[in-house]
Order: sequence, then structure tokens, then C-alpha cells
Amino acid sequence: LSDRLTETFRNLRTKGKLTPADVDGTVREIRRALLDADVALPVVKEFTAKVRERALGDEVNRALNPAQQVVQIVNEELIAILGGEQRRLQFAKNPPTVIMLAGLQGSGKTTFAGKLAKQLEKDGHTPLLVAADLQRPNAVNQLQVVAQQAGAAIYAPEPGNGVGDPVAVSKAGVEQARRQQHDIVIIDTAGRLGVDAEMMKQAADIRRAVDPDEVLFVIDAMIGQDAVNTAKAFQEGVDFTGVVLSKLDGDARGGAALSVASVTGRPIIYASMGEGLDDLEPFYPDRMASRILDLGDILTLIEQAQAAFDEEEARKVAEKIANDQFTLEDFLDQLQQMKKMGSMKKMLGMLPGMGQMKQQLDNFDESEMDRTEAIIRSMTPGERRNPKILNGSRRLRIARGSGMTVTDINQLIQRFDQASKMMKTVARGGVPNIPGMGPM
Ligand code: GDP
Ligand code: MG
Repeated sequence: LSDRLTETFRNLRTKGKLTPADVDGTVREIRRALLDADVALPVVKEFTAKVRERALGDEVNRALNPAQQVVQIVNEELIAILGGEQRRLQFAKNPPTVIMLAGLQGSGKTTFAGKLAKQLEKDGHTPLLVAADLQRPNAVNQLQVVAQQAGAAIYAPEPGNGVGDPVAVSKAGVEQARRQQHDIVIIDTAGRLGVDAEMMKQAADIRRAVDPDEVLFVIDAMIGQDAVNTAKAFQEGVDFTGVVLSKLDGDARGGAALSVASVTGRPIIYASMGEGLDDLEPFYPDRMASRILDLGDILTLIEQAQAAFDEEEARKVAEKIANDQFTLEDFLDQLQQMKKMGSMKKMLGMLPGMGQMKQQLDNFDESEMDRTEAIIRSMTPGERRNPKILNGSRRLRIARGSGMTVTDINQLIQRFDQASKMMKTVARGGVPNIPGMGPM
């Protein structure tokens, strides 16, 4: 993919505005890449439509060429669908926390049960594994082996008692955990090779009986195009609170992750990365986005382009400040940039002794920023360049125009004066001494 996109970049002139043609070219490549990564077709269609719409409505980013900008949007949207921030396991207020696993046979439930138990033990928990897969003859045995490897306790029905009842076993397991003060219960359940009504009913019955805090749907990342139907069936049949993506150590590009996340809206919590019990990681949406689109190199290029551009802008501003040419117009520019990418902070970071002010900027209030912006926008260009001409009647006019009071205007100008004096001192290498300066 990288090669194809690089080609697309080359074919595009750098221009100010994204045209449908620019966007469509890149979106077409993205669409092909998503299908290559085995993202389900309906998901691909919905996703690319959304990206296209956002790209066409997006403000032009002067740092990037149009194709880069589209790729950046694609990446952001991918990460958003994949869950944005990482989601962690949710623990019950009153232990034990009950975690139930569901998924097709062979999806990796039993292996994950062992991995999770091992990890939780490391974190100081005392999980109890419950063998509620009574479908296959050696399923209980398999969980016993896994429990032993993980060094975790297990609750299993006595062998040779004929076919047990998984619902009863699950309930008894939770009771045992309560009695023996395990703070977490992990219930391993049965699966079928394909979705079938009986299996789904069994899982739903277990869920109803033990009322778990988490139901984790384990899905094999290699499942490809079937991901959507399987996930939908489990969501309708049992419903789940989170997803575990298994077998990510294989060559699957992870399209299943996007399909499942987008169709079910449930967060992916873990990535299972091998047969060993230590091969478990939290799920990182940004890493998965790169994996799906294979965008690593392109994203690095975009970051570099953006950083170089920011630095150049920051240098220009610093120069203006040093030469006493920093105007309200520049200030407005900065406010807008700040909203976008915090470049003011970056600029201040380049000046010596600005730590304290940077901190103040960190506390900067967005609505304050909006008010300031409204005031500056109500000024004429001449007033922005030279605030000294702002007499009483001009201030009154600006107050009316921006819906603020004259006091607000006075305060803004006062703060601007103080801030530019201070920035000038700093830019020339001095130490500022303006105690109690509020947010600029
Ligand atoms: P279950 O039927 O859902 O309980 O699935 P199992 O846990 O028994 O796993 C089925 C097979 O997949 C076993 O051979 C596991 O060793 C293997 N397996 C499970 N998780 C992973 C994984 O993350 N990576 C790889 N490569 N194999 C896995
Ligand atoms: Mg199993």
C-alpha cells in the first residue's frame, strides 16, 4: 500500500483546497487496502463514505498535501472506531468480578482464560477459572492444564459424572469463588465451529444465571470476512461488553478488528498474540490502525511534515515578538493554531524560561479562547495591528460587535500588552517578572 500511496502523493500538486478528485483518489486506495486487510465490505463502504465526507468538509491543513491530509483523516477515523483510548477491564465494586468468555470453538477462549488468569495473578489478583465447557470430552482437562501453567485455581465438575450442566457449574463456580475469597472468576464456555442456536442459548443462560461484570467475546483475527456475521450473532445471542482479538501473531492484518468494532460498537480490550500464556497484550487502537493500513512510514512522513511546518511557524512568531511586531492579528492566528495543535505551546517551549507560562497555557480554557477570538474578530485590521488606537468609542463598538462588555475588551488589551512585554523580554533572553498574570 505504501508504494501506491506514495505514487498518489506524487501525482498530486500541492494546492490549497481539497477537491473531490483529490479525496476520491486517495479514498479509492484506502478502500482497496481495507479490503486487502480483510475488512468486511459493508464496513469498508461505510468507513470510506465517512472519510470522504469529512475530508471534503475539512479545513485545509497547510502543512500537508491533500493526499497526506486524507490519510491523516483516515488514520484518525480508524483509531476512533477501534476505540480511541484503550479500554481496561472493569472490576466489580463487590468482588468477585465475574468475567465470562464467549466465542466460536477454536477461537482461543481457553487459551485466553489461562493468559488472563496469569496476568491477573501477576497484578495481585486471585482468579478462579471455571470449566463450563462441558461439550467436548477433553475441554475440562485442557483448562486444567492451562490453570496449572498459569498457577491459577480452577473449579471443574468431577469427571465421570456424565454430562454436566454448564449453567449449574458456572453458578457453583461463582459461589466457590465467594466462599474461598477469589476476587475474580473467569468462566470458560463451550463453542461450536459455526454459530448455532443451541450454543447461543447455553451462553445466554449462563450469562443470565451469573450476571457477569464482563462478557468477553473472543474472536480469531484470521476469521476475515466472517467476522461481521459471527460478531453480530454473538451480540444478538448473548451480547458482550468487550472483545478479545486472538491469533494476532499470525499474518492476519487485523481487518476483523475494524469489522467487529464498527459493527458492534464494543471495545476491543485484549490482543492475544500467541499460544504461550504470556502472549497477551492490551489492545492499542493506534497500533492496530497502522497494522490494518500498513501506514507506518506514511504516518511518520506526515508527522515530520507537520512538525517541520509547526517549527517554521513558531520561529516566525518568536522573531516577531523579539522585534516587537507581534500584533493582535498574530495573537488571533495563534489562538486558532493553538486550538488545532498547541503550536503556541511549542513556540513557548522554544524560548528559554517559559516553563511557567507553558503551564498556564495547559490550563487554558477553551471558552475563554472563544471569547478572546470573538473580541479580536470584531476589531478592524488596523486596530489589530495597532491596539494603541483603541479609544473609548472604538472599544464600545467592539464590545457591541462581540457581545462582550467594555470591561472585557479592556482586560483583553491589558493582558495582551502585559503578555507581549513579557514575551519580548523573554525572547531577548531576559527573565519575565510579571507576578499574578492570569491566563493570557
Ligand atoms: P477455544 O476452543 O475457544 O477454547 O480455543 P482454544 O483456546 O482451545 O484455542 C484453539 C487453538 O488456537 C489452540 O491450538 C491454541 O493453542 C490456539 N491459539 C489460541 N490463541 C492463540 C493465539 O493468540 N495465537 C496462536 N497462534 N494460537 C492460538
Ligand atoms: Mg475451549
